[in-house]
Formats: sequence, C-alpha cells, structure tokens
Amino acid sequence: MTQDAMSVAYLLIALLGLLIGSFLNVVVHRVPRHESIIHPASHCPHCGHLLRPWENIPVLSWLLLRGRCHACGNAIAWRYPALELLTGLLSLVVVGQLGLTWQLIPALVFTWVLLALAMIDLETQLLPDRITKPGLLIGLLLNGSALLWPGIGLVTPLDALLGVCIGYGSLWLLATVYYRATGRHGMGGGDLKLLGMIGAWLGWQAVFLTLFIAALSGGLVALSFLLRGKGRDYAMPFGPYLALGGWLLLLWPQAILSGYLHLLGS
Ligand SMILES: [Zn+2]
Repeated sequence: MTQDAMSVAYLLIALLGLLIGSFLNVVVHRVPRHESIIHPASHCPHCGHLLRPWENIPVLSWLLLRGRCHACGNAIAWRYPALELLTGLLSLVVVGQLGLTWQLIPALVFTWVLLALAMIDLETQLLPDRITKPGLLIGLLLNGSALLWPGIGLVTPLDALLGVCIGYGSLWLLATVYYRATGRHGMGGGDLKLLGMIGAWLGWQAVFLTLFIAALSGGLVALSFLLRGKGRDYAMPFGPYLALGGWLLLLWPQAILSGYLHLLGS
C-alpha cells in the first residue's frame, strides 16, 4: 500500500473513532440507567431537545455550541467531547501499532468496549453485566472462529478458554481471601467478569500481567489519594485499571512481559 493510501486509512480510522466515541457517550449514559441505547435518538438530558445532525457531530458540535444545549442553554458536560477525542486517539494508536491487519478489527472493538466499561465504572462504580457478559462471549467466539478463519483471532481458542477461567477464578480467589481477612468486600462481581472477559480476548497469559498492571497503577493512584488526605473509606473503582492493563497487553504484550521479567530479576 502506498504512503498516501496508508494516510487516508489512518485518517478514516481516526474519524471512525470519533463517531464511535459519540456512540460510547450514549452507552455510558444509558446502560447504567437500564435504558435502550437505540431509542430514543440523541437528546439533551435536561430539556429533551432532539439533536439535529449538525448538533451531533463529534467534538465539533460541542465547540460550535460552546458547550451548551442549543434549546435550553444548559451546559453539556466536557466528558462528551473528551470521550470522543480519546476514542479517536486510542483508535489511531491501535492502527499505528497493528497496521492494516485482520486483527485490527477485533483490537478496535476490544478497545472501545474497554473504554465504555472504564468510563461507566468511573462514573457509577459499576461494570454492567449487559456489557461484560456479551463481551466475554464475543471474545470466546472470536478466538474460537480462528479455527475456521486463521488470522482473525488474537490467541488460540484454548488460551482464550483458560483466560476466562483464570481471569474470573484468580480475582474470585483474591476477593474471597480479602473478605475473609478484613470482613469487607474489596471488589465487585463486575471486576471478576471484566478480567474473565480480558482473558477471553487475550488469553490466560495476559490475565496475570493485566492484574499486575492494574494493581500497580491502581495502587499508585490509591496511594496518592491517601497522601492527599482522602479517607480510607473512599471506594476506588478497579475496573478502569483492569481496562488499562488489558489495553496495554493488547498492543505491547512482548514489551510488558520482558519489562515484568526484568523487574522480577532485579
Ligand atoms: Zn437542552
């Protein structure tokens, strides 16, 4: 493929990412409220004003409207354009890392699902079954379909199946031990299903490294909260750190593995 054609492909994927980001905003807002993600069409949450096409362009409309609803003037949260931009940016990183391969398709879908889950967990402290369960199933089907269509899967079907068992099982074990020791629930059931889902997509090997990255990054953030005097009872969502770990493992498994082994050896 020529350089020009590659640039066009990258641009299209960045634009697709912006559009998907706009859809993820709907998912993040509606799924925790048990609302349909299709009906009704996009509208202002304050006054119900239905968005016309020009008010529904990712990022651009928010800038044109100066962050306010055209009808009632209420503020539109900056989370909306931010998630659109982030989705576009991460999609670009994925294609930059994987190139135009068959695996790009599942990698983009996985990225978007992780983003939606991380945002929902940050806002509501929940990881909805409506996303984790189908996400887990799709990961298994994807890697299972590699039997018929080699090249589309991310890992072997067996690694994926073990990934679900070990992903769900290892956190279940941790949660049980923590509960026995402290009498408090440290993790929600959603975290277990999310790590099971990551195992379904990336295989059992990635589960351990995901958990390592999540514990490390989550631990650092928790420490910074403690140092700034926030209460011990502050319930920190773990899902965003699991999602971060899973996404990094999707794109840089070798670098992370050798970094981890290096840490162990030193
Ligand atoms: Zn409005």
